[in-house]
Amino acid sequence: MKRKFEVRVNKKLCKKCGICVFMCPKGVFSLFDELKVEAEKCNGCRRCEVYCPDFAIEIDAVEQVGKETREETRGETREVKHAERAVAGE
Ligand code: SF4
Ligand code: SF4
Repeated sequence: MKRKFEVRVNKKLCKKCGICVFMCPKGVFSLFDELKVEAEKCNGCRRCEVYCPDFAIEIDAVEQVGKETREETRGETREVKHAERAVAGE
């Protein structure tokens, strides 16, 4: 099964500098008035996490299990409803 990744952007931290748009090799981010995220394109390379100057991005590996999904987050595993929740911090 192809791995999926959750791309979370904390809007309170994001300054819309656009660095993630240029650094992401998969075109996940686009920035017009708002930063948009297409998490289904993400390959999990974490370049955006590393290069975001405001630590606004978090990438988590998500394994699909039927309609439910299982998310691996820093050693702990928890059930989540949606694999592609794109933007957090609202
Ligand atoms: S690099 Fe970070 S601060 Fe800049 S637009 Fe992307 S998420 Fe926002
Ligand atoms: S982890 Fe890599 S592919 Fe995924 S959004 Fe960040 S830079 Fe793009």
